[in-house]
Amino acid sequence: MRIRQSLKPPNGVGQAAGLGKFIRKGLKQTLGLLYPACCAGCGRNFRPAPADIRNCFLKRLGDHLCPECMSKAEPIKPPWCSICGLPFTAKVGPDHLCGGCIRKPPVYARARAVFVFQDPVRRLIHGLKYAGQVNLAKPLGEILLQCLFQYWPDNGIDLVMPVPLYPAKERRRTFNQAWLMLRSWKAAIREFGFADPPFGLQKQVLVRRRDTDSQAGLNREQRRKNIRRAFEVVRPELVEGKNILLVDDVLTTGATAEACSRTLLHSGARQVDVLVLAKVV
Ligand SMILES: [Zn+2]
Ligand SMILES: [Zn+2]
Repeated sequence: MRIRQSLKPPNGVGQAAGLGKFIRKGLKQTLGLLYPACCAGCGRNFRPAPADIRNCFLKRLGDHLCPECMSKAEPIKPPWCSICGLPFTAKVGPDHLCGGCIRKPPVYARARAVFVFQDPVRRLIHGLKYAGQVNLAKPLGEILLQCLFQYWPDNGIDLVMPVPLYPAKERRRTFNQAWLMLRSWKAAIREFGFADPPFGLQKQVLVRRRDTDSQAGLNREQRRKNIRRAFEVVRPELVEGKNILLVDDVLTTGATAEACSRTLLHSGARQVDVLVLAKVV
């Protein structure tokens, strides 16, 4: 029987960083007073607030969003659909299944999104993907990691991988935005108090064989057909019997996550979960 390492950060997290962290924080606050930053949400100049007065969960974004945009970047709160993570408008009661998941449950076990896909988070994601603001990948990646710790506290994840882009598209963009966010995890995991990630991080396992770019204007069923057989596992030995977490920036209809999950499960994965930054609701 395998013994899993819990994703609960060890005791004394943050102490290791000690004096260096204290000096960095002080320096950052001093620089923040001298040089205002440009808000990635609204474009206005602002002075980043000292980290300790920000919401802990979101503090990584405080250097990139002005206080007004920060107040709009509220994470999704429960209750939500226990499978697809769709937030319910009634903010009372336990999690339960949404109508879509009752009618046709997805093949992935559980999907969770940090935010609803709306401004200013939409602007952050567009800035990262289309406007060369690659410096956003680190804080956004760290927020994703914090969500992993929050939503999968007892671990169970063996392997984390990004939803792949079609190779020509990745060459044009020069990066896969999900992988860019995941690359910040190794350093962030050390900050959380682990020596090494308690799971594997792999990019070259699942690949996209078909360009499913022109999804705009297609309805849900057409998207699903278009995306079927778009993915392939090139190293099945790495996914066999594993619990896999797929990571992406946005979950739109869920068709891409569904197609990736189906491919991984066909290749022998035990379970597939999904974590995204934002969900279209
Ligand atoms: Zn702003
Ligand atoms: Zn659902």
